[in-house]
Amino acid sequence: MSGMNRQGRPSSIETAVNDIEFSATHETFTGNRGLRLEEPLIYELDNPGACGVDLDEPDAFEPRLGGFERKGAIGLASLSEPDVMRHFVRLSRKNYSIDAGLYPLGSCTMKHNPRLNEKMARLPGFADVHPLQPQQTVEGAIELMAQLSHWLMELTGMQAVAMSPKAGAHGELCGMMAIRAALEARGEGASRTRVLVPESAHGTNPATAALIGYKVDEIPVKSNGRVDTEAFKAKLGPDVAAIMLTNPNTCGLFESDIIEIAAAVHEAGGYFYCDGANFNAIVGRVRPGDLGVDAMHINLHKTFSTPHGGGGPGAGPVVLSAALAPFAPRPYLVQTEEGARLIETAEASAADGTTPFGRMTAFHGQMGMYVRAFAYMLSHGSNGLRQVAEDAVLNANYVLASLRDELSAPFEGPCMHEALFDDRFLKGTGVETLDFAKAMIDEGYHPMTMYFPLVVHGAMLIEPTETESKQTLDQFIATLRDLARAAKANDISRFTGAPHYAPRHRLDETGAARNPVLRWQPTVPLKVAE
Ligand SMILES: *Cc1c(COP(=O)(O)O)cnc(C)c1O
Repeated sequence: MSGMNRQGRPSSIETAVNDIEFSATHETFTGNRGLRLEEPLIYELDNPGACGVDLDEPDAFEPRLGGFERKGAIGLASLSEPDVMRHFVRLSRKNYSIDAGLYPLGSCTMKHNPRLNEKMARLPGFADVHPLQPQQTVEGAIELMAQLSHWLMELTGMQAVAMSPKAGAHGELCGMMAIRAALEARGEGASRTRVLVPESAHGTNPATAALIGYKVDEIPVKSNGRVDTEAFKAKLGPDVAAIMLTNPNTCGLFESDIIEIAAAVHEAGGYFYCDGANFNAIVGRVRPGDLGVDAMHINLHKTFSTPHGGGGPGAGPVVLSAALAPFAPRPYLVQTEEGARLIETAEASAADGTTPFGRMTAFHGQMGMYVRAFAYMLSHGSNGLRQVAEDAVLNANYVLASLRDELSAPFEGPCMHEALFDDRFLKGTGVETLDFAKAMIDEGYHPMTMYFPLVVHGAMLIEPTETESKQTLDQFIATLRDLARAAKANDISRFTGAPHYAPRHRLDETGAARNPVLRWQPTVPLKVAE
């Protein structure tokens, strides 16, 4: 290690690094490295004849499948119970997760998933319900949906909420379909064909507009990272259906002209779709309805701490203004004298005087996510939710202020909930954003969001969220400062080919994308059962 630029490291860490370097280069017989275990595919572990269960041979019986019953081997691996257990536990240990360490992905809002949420979601009355159960047998679940809906509308200042979309992008689709339905209802469905989207937008925004047949027209972003309001106004016309704007935007900045933008699009007869993925920065402080928003999705896995993946599909409810509320998809909730009821049929909507555009999903959405999000809301209360936003912004500004001199920030002034850096500080070092991010893996961190937003060269977007402690942030900041200094001191070996200490090193990502191997093939053909 001597001769490398590692000032400021405690010597115990120095020793640990030496140890890791030994294991990184020394080939072991098994391919394992200490506790870092190699794991083949479960099919490659196949041990014919082994079985994890002890079932009696079935009695002789006549198949009633008319000769269509399977004759060949099923092709599943045979393994004992401990072998199966070990396989999945070993795989799980290869995952980096929010429970293992800081996950600074900007825009993704990777917050801690409180264990209280998990406990509530496992209550049998919520965990074991079936979407085809009669409503009177799941009144508690429906009441929870009603209360969650109430608070989502309250926090956003909106009239209605569509609960069924399964993610942010799905919510965007739902909101834009409600906008299209509203335009069709006033006879402007065919004439309004253009959707305005800032060039800093998340890719799902233009993709959503294009998917339902709109022409996407890009609005330029000014050098201060905000939408160019004059350029936006110049693009307005009788063929504009909507603007899709993210606020705070993907540069981590508040769109200060948002009220003016909303008024201008309304005056031109269009609607205002707000991408609410960054709602966690303003929850409890700003109600998007007050800003003139007509539709906004809320990623429960971002703002309201439900897990990203791993726990099954997510939830991206969409809040709607009074103008769009009648077009919200079925099923939706109404309050009756007997409590909340789900409206599920066209007849029921007709009786109710609404004209839903259709359905987003077969059923009602993700009960497990609703319970978690609601538990998070209740455990914080309104003051607590406001503090969530404040702490998220404080943490991001702490990161920005602590790194601004060693890295380089593209915009002046403070940020909202995420700190954005560009690659000017790496100029002339031979190190690029990608190398820098991969070197972070060697330091035990998941990299930040890279190369997004596209309007910033070599972007590195860091979102600490409110759930990280000052100690954790200090360690992270010190690590990035150390890496930045190493890059500037031409300590190239820390970057090229990194990660060195991960189970796999630099992958051929282009090769993997161009020639994906998606299917395991047996090396020996499966035997046909007798
Ligand atoms: C996360 C995100 C989305 C998409 O949300 P998903 O839930 O991942 O579909 C859209 N826009 C922005 C700005 C985001 O950060």
